[in-house]
Amino acid sequence: MLRLRCPVCGMLAEETELHAGGEAHIVRATAGDSDAEFEAYMFLRKNVKGVVFERWLHQYGCGKWFHAARNSTSHQIYGTYPAQSAEPPAALLETIAAAVSDSGITESGASAADESTNDS
Ligand SMILES: [Zn+2]
Repeated sequence: MLRLRCPVCGMLAEETELHAGGEAHIVRATAGDSDAEFEAYMFLRKNVKGVVFERWLHQYGCGKWFHAARNSTSHQIYGTYPAQSAEPPAALLETIAAAVSDSGITESGASAADESTNDS
């Protein structure tokens, strides 16, 4: 079970108290965008195996949205930050880079051993 610390109220919330809101940092389509750009905004998501940035709602707590960084394969939580952030905080990116280099897992989620065995 995921346990995320809400950056708004400071509470450590279990997954059942939260609502997943999908990928974070999606830039809205504007009136001048083409149909393909609108389609990409509306429907296309990255579905990354590895480090992901997601939106979460503290539904049964303070009721506020926030962002979380976690690993989609190991469910390791790297940190949470306010939803008003246009991009992840630099300190969090450093934490993720250190954790990824320590574990031998690339940011795409594949380990170095997996990559070498896929070639044969
Ligand atoms: Zn909260």
